[in-house]
Amino acid sequence: MTHKREKILRGIPVSHGFAQGVAFVYRPYLPHLDEHVLEPDVLAGEVRRFQRAVKAAERELRRLHARVKREMGHDFAEFIDVQLALLADEEVLSETERFIRKRGRNAEFAYEETLKRLTRPMTKSDVPLFQERSMDVVDVSARVLRHLLGEELPSLYEVLPGSIIIARDLPPSEAALLDKEKISGLVLESGGKTSHTAIMAKAKEIPAVVGVESVCREASEGLPVLVDGYRGLAILNPTRKRLNAYKSDFELYQRHRQSLSLLVEQEPVTADGKMIDLSANIGFSAEARAALRYGARGVGLFRTEYIYLARRRPPTEDEQFEVFAEVAKMLNSRPVIVRTFDLGGDKVIPGYSESNPFLGWRGLRLCFDNVELFKGQLRAILRSSAFGNVKIMFPMVSALGELRRAKLLVDEAKRELRKQGVKFDEQLEIGVMVETPSAAIMADQLAQECSFLSIGSNDLTQYTLAVDRGNERVAELYDHFHPAVLQLIRQTIAAAHRHGIWVGLCGEFASDPLGILVLLGFGIDEMSVSPGLIPEAKNIIRTIDTQSAVEIMDDAMKLGTGLEVKRLLRRELRRRFPKLAEFLFELEMADSRNG
Ligand code: PEP
Ligand code: MG
Repeated sequence: MTHKREKILRGIPVSHGFAQGVAFVYRPYLPHLDEHVLEPDVLAGEVRRFQRAVKAAERELRRLHARVKREMGHDFAEFIDVQLALLADEEVLSETERFIRKRGRNAEFAYEETLKRLTRPMTKSDVPLFQERSMDVVDVSARVLRHLLGEELPSLYEVLPGSIIIARDLPPSEAALLDKEKISGLVLESGGKTSHTAIMAKAKEIPAVVGVESVCREASEGLPVLVDGYRGLAILNPTRKRLNAYKSDFELYQRHRQSLSLLVEQEPVTADGKMIDLSANIGFSAEARAALRYGARGVGLFRTEYIYLARRRPPTEDEQFEVFAEVAKMLNSRPVIVRTFDLGGDKVIPGYSESNPFLGWRGLRLCFDNVELFKGQLRAILRSSAFGNVKIMFPMVSALGELRRAKLLVDEAKRELRKQGVKFDEQLEIGVMVETPSAAIMADQLAQECSFLSIGSNDLTQYTLAVDRGNERVAELYDHFHPAVLQLIRQTIAAAHRHGIWVGLCGEFASDPLGILVLLGFGIDEMSVSPGLIPEAKNIIRTIDTQSAVEIMDDAMKLGTGLEVKRLLRRELRRRFPKLAEFLFELEMADSRNG
């Protein structure tokens, strides 16, 4: 539907900033294929038409390969190599041509039927690699079919600069490849504050709003769109008046960013002198550079799943080693906490399906069932520890036995490396993510058997409240400030300290100004946020004194609802730190962001 008139759609702001651009409506390509019986005299021409379509698809893929390689690195272009190989598969090509000639059918139908027949064993296979490849088969066939049908293919890698991506959803593997240089903003119908696509947008500093109902129906290709990543608005076809009104917001935002940039060199130390380890969450080695640029003290969470998902296949031990070693060297002696694969949940490996993925085969559970994959990763991390200050962290721990089992596998990996004479840090520290209620409740026991804890508030919130972190229908119930979540965070911090180890938080809670206030009140040692948010977090940490934060939290913990907690935090922040509050809430974002 095209709009002559302006339309304001509301959603959840997940990545700050404003963007003005042109809609690129991303819809998965589902071609409509008809079967036609052809006369014998046109069959040779039909075969030629098929060959031309394959050639055109190949040219396109080669161009795409060159671009992805240039912009994102060789690693990420690799899946296009796979697609090129699939496209050129002799059997598929000759069988399709045979189908056209012998059965007298149109090229689209012949190609689709041939692919289905030849790839059936692959898609039905239990071998993960084959299942993953089925995604590439779908991509390749869509490309050829689009040429045959003369239709447009929606491709996120081929958008024009200044595009605002509008989609129902984006799998994290696609989101991982979003190119900030071209994509100004992102608006999704699905998702919640801490869905991995939202986190990826934040990491790439692309203003994003999710949970925007029916935006795909309302928007049309090329429509002007304004994304307000503060208030959570997608404004379709904004009026001149609206654009003018936003001018001052754009400027204010720029001024904020500039004033924050002065903080890069400053230490993240509270007003009363407590040093907080303010680190960065990264998913790719390129983000480590951004982390340093923004003044991070280290990498608090390296999400390694994207190395897998962006490649669309399991990375080898050597490939992982190269990535981890590169980051370790870049960070020099600063800590780099590598989290082992947290696949599953919403970072699902293509081809696997579960009715309840967040409660199913995820994180360590999946790794224990793929021991070779897991040990390969452990060896890669260990090897990289010879080049910097690397630590290992395990996700999705829900029982002490899992930590013990994972540690045994680390020992095994160490023995293997020693045997081969490969160097690694013998003292390498092992930490646990506390992101299930059971881990938080068992924090005392866990703390006795590891070197640090890092609270994964994104999952801890979802599992404590039984609210899917990526489901827009229940997004209102997803609340970090729910007293139950706060209690678990507080008791985890206290447990770590009782056992003399440090504790951090690497979920999105630490990117929320009010969340930082809470964490300072609970006595956290470390926080890890998206690289681009480090200056803002520093600003907050440097303004607040721990005594005030403790007092505020003593009061907050007596309250019964998340809303009451947030109201109190906001009120106290305004009362005790008016300048900070003014800075934070100047864009009147407080209500929409935290309320
Ligand atoms: C978390 O759950 O808070 C976390 C940091 O991990 P992820 O968002 O990758 O699940
Ligand atoms: Mg998590």
